[in-house]
Amino acid sequence: MFKNLIGGEWVEGPRTTRNINPSDTRDVVGEYAQADAAQARQAVAAAQQAFGAWSLSTPQQRFDILDAAGTEILARRAALGDLLAREEGKTLPEAIGEVVRAGNIFKFFAGEALRTGGEVLPSVRPGVGVEVTREPVGVVGLITPWNFPIAIPAWKIAPALACGNTVVFKPAELVPGSAWALADILQRAGLPAGVFNLVMGRGVEVGQVLLDDPRVAAISFTGSVATGQRIAAACVARMAKFQLEMGGKNPMVVLDDADLDIAVAAALNSGFSSTGQRCTASSRLIVTDGIHDRFVAAMAERIASLKVDDARKAGTDIGPVVDQSQLEQDLEYLDIGRAEGARLLGGERIEHNADGAPGFYLRPALFTETTAAMRINREEIFGPVVSVMRAKNYDEALALANDSPFGLSAGIATSSLKHATHFKRHMQAGMVMVNLPTAGVDFHVPFGGRKGSSYGPREQGRYAAEFYTTVKTAYTQA
Ligand code: NAD
Repeated sequence: MFKNLIGGEWVEGPRTTRNINPSDTRDVVGEYAQADAAQARQAVAAAQQAFGAWSLSTPQQRFDILDAAGTEILARRAALGDLLAREEGKTLPEAIGEVVRAGNIFKFFAGEALRTGGEVLPSVRPGVGVEVTREPVGVVGLITPWNFPIAIPAWKIAPALACGNTVVFKPAELVPGSAWALADILQRAGLPAGVFNLVMGRGVEVGQVLLDDPRVAAISFTGSVATGQRIAAACVARMAKFQLEMGGKNPMVVLDDADLDIAVAAALNSGFSSTGQRCTASSRLIVTDGIHDRFVAAMAERIASLKVDDARKAGTDIGPVVDQSQLEQDLEYLDIGRAEGARLLGGERIEHNADGAPGFYLRPALFTETTAAMRINREEIFGPVVSVMRAKNYDEALALANDSPFGLSAGIATSSLKHATHFKRHMQAGMVMVNLPTAGVDFHVPFGGRKGSSYGPREQGRYAAEFYTTVKTAYTQA
């Protein structure tokens, strides 16, 4: 049984949960402890106790530990990738890629620990000096979703520790395996007891403690809009700092002058990789009239050739949906789209894979002849379901792309420098891609969105320090 890590000790919980492989629901990945509210509070207490010393630890100590964690993650990429693919269902190459990303993030923030700087300015008053420095915020609660079981925890934990905070980490219920492996690596990398705590358990119980406990100074959350709103309300009520990364309904505009192969490759990758379960997935393809029919025909042909099978099998293009309830949500949206009058290609439910194993398989689905008002174009589905909208020209395509409550990532396929430049400036999104998929981003630059997709400072890169530090301005009379 895999236990929680509280105050440097591995502890059992009052309950356990079974981690199930979505590619073969008969396969149990492992039995994982589930913390309750009392254990979550113990973890917060441990983090609070450890904060004093860790907040004063040297950059060298932080560098050594984060660098060692990154080195081990990279060295064990194959095994950790296999675990990730087994518990979450993305394909093995994608899972290994995610593990590598997590390793690189730890290495990056090891370096950032050495680079924490400040400013020295002359005062407007004679004889006075001004220093602006950054200090850690305290105990931070990190709450993560299931779709990136190691990369998202890494991009919260690494900057939190690099900046001198202590951490209570609550991973998503569906993916405790990668979270436990990461905790084990951090523990063995030499973190003092209580600096990093793992509490696996339910959001409404364990997560809620982090929101309500006054000893938790800040919450970094990635997940759904509905949970994000609850987190915002709870944090505002007690004036805790918070940061939210939430959903997306990311558009990809395809213009008449696009290279068809580039456009199709980008749309397929963005729409269906990771079974479409990426916050940055392109779920709205906005295609101008002159290329529309050729683009749809090419997409249909490529989609038909995609192999949906066990996530860990060589040659699989698309693994299963993560669980029964996400599958039901996807199927419900297929019904909604049909009822709204869209034309559906694909989207068949497959009960068993090629080897006869039962899993949550769904063939990629492409809706055509859709309009902006349809629910399938407004609400996040979070599955392998993509819709195509027609646009008369670039201006209409841009207007459609911006007609969304979300603003995470957006793409354009075009050979026009003029339109690409205009799109980069006028697209209301946190990330804009030209002739590239909307998903798949670098680990050393800011990540985040606008409108209903994000709230608070950006994650990743050196911008992460905005959230994980608080600024102090000191005045000295010489
Ligand atoms: P979710 O909101 O259901 O759960 C996210 C986390 O919040 C889980 O750990 C869950 O246990 C916890 N939680 C649930 N209720 C809670 C409560 N009352 N108090 C405290 N914590 C609580 O999301 P999910 O289904 O795991 O993930 C899918 C969602 O995540 C999608 O909407 C997707 O777009 C989003 N996502 C966003 C990004 C981004 O960076 N913008 C990245 C990945 C995923």
